[in-house]
Amino acid sequence: MDVEGLAAALGLRVLRLPLEERVSGFLRESAGIWEIGVNSLHHPNRQRFTLAHELGHYLLHRDHAPFEDGLLFRSDAKNAREREANQFAALVLMPDTEFRTALSSGDIDSVARTFGVSKQAAEYRRDSVINSIGID
Ligand SMILES: [Zn+2]
Repeated sequence: MDVEGLAAALGLRVLRLPLEERVSGFLRESAGIWEIGVNSLHHPNRQRFTLAHELGHYLLHRDHAPFEDGLLFRSDAKNAREREANQFAALVLMPDTEFRTALSSGDIDSVARTFGVSKQAAEYRRDSVINSIGID
């Protein structure tokens, strides 16, 4: 999925800029233009996830903007909006059918490489696949 192209098609401006290490990205509106900021100092895979996460905030939660995001994978994330944005990002970057196919034929490292995401993101996505077929 071309997340960059999707953001552009929705009229968002994507800014890649050096931010503090603890900040992954943000979503804000400035003079009527929606902007997604991505920390250009982070690994490209992390930047992809951040962009997709912020796009999730835009599509699902923009009435509650601005957002500033740090660590995106806190397993204790109590905030429903953060969980939803993470789930959105994982689904956009690792679509269901392709992900299941990759998962059935490779280990988690090769799955992560296939989708250009971190191992952590692939594990997060795998765990939601497992949850979705469980008895929840
Ligand atoms: Zn967030």
